[in-house]
Amino acid sequence: MKFNVKKLYPMGKTKAFNVTYDDGVLQDIRFVEMLNKYSLKGTFNLNFGLMENEFEWIHEKGYVIKRLSKEHALALYNGHEIASHTLTHPYMQDKTENEILYEMKEDKKKLETLFGSEIKGFALPFDYYSDLIEACAKKSGFVYARISEESMSFKPKADYHRWRATVFHLNPELDNLVEKFLATKEELAAFQIVGHSYDLDTENMWDKMENIFDKIASNEDILPMTTIEMVHYLKAMNEVEITDSEIINNSDEELWFLVEGNIVCLEPKTSFRR
Ligand SMILES: [Zn+2]
Repeated sequence: MKFNVKKLYPMGKTKAFNVTYDDGVLQDIRFVEMLNKYSLKGTFNLNFGLMENEFEWIHEKGYVIKRLSKEHALALYNGHEIASHTLTHPYMQDKTENEILYEMKEDKKKLETLFGSEIKGFALPFDYYSDLIEACAKKSGFVYARISEESMSFKPKADYHRWRATVFHLNPELDNLVEKFLATKEELAAFQIVGHSYDLDTENMWDKMENIFDKIASNEDILPMTTIEMVHYLKAMNEVEITDSEIINNSDEELWFLVEGNIVCLEPKTSFRR
C-alpha cells in the first residue's frame, strides 16, 4: 500500500498566514495593535536611515505620512519579525553594487543593534529587481529577499531570494483570495498580504482589514507565522525525504506530517517508519 503522507505546518496546522508591511510608519501602531488583538504575526520592513530622522512626506490625498522613531519602533514590534528595507529607500536601478551593498548591510547592522537580534529578511523598496540586487542580498547575508511582484497563489516557490508575497492589499482580488485561502486543500498553503499601513488611512480600509484578520484568526487550520518562520520551515520541508516506508527529517527544524490520518511531529535529524 502507498505510504500516505501529507506535509503540515507546526502544531499540525495545514495553512500559514502573515502580513509583510513596509516602511515603519506611524499607522503601524494601530496596525500592530490589530494584529496582536487577533494573535497574528507580521513582518515589518524598516529603513533605519529614515527612522533615525523621522522622515515625513505628504501623501497625494493630503495625509502626512511619518516614520516611527527608533524608540517607538523598539517598543512596538515585539513578537513580530523585523526585516531590512534598505537604509534610505532608494531607487535601486540607479545604484552601483557597492551602493546597494551599503544600503543593505548598513541597514541590517543598525537594525540588529537597535533590536538586539539578527535581521535575516530583506524586502525590496519600490519594484525594480535584478540579478545584481539578488546577488547583493545574498552577499549581505539575507536568508530571503521579498520582491514586489505578487504570486497570487498559496504555493510559495523555493526561490528564497525572489520571494513573492501572495497579494498587495490594494489589489481588488484581495477578498476573493481570502475566501479561496479559507477553502483551499493545497498542501502547505501560505498566504501573505503585503502593504503599507498608511494605505489603511488613505483608502479608508481599516474595517476591511480587521474583517480579514477576524476570518483568518477564527479558522483553526491556519497558523500565524512570520516570513522568516515560513522560509525556515519550507526550506526544511524541501529537504525531507519520503520513501515508501520512511520519512527522513534531515533538517534542524521540528517537522509535522499527517501520516495515515495521524499527526506526527518529527524531531530534527530523526526519521519515522511506518
Ligand atoms: Zn517601501
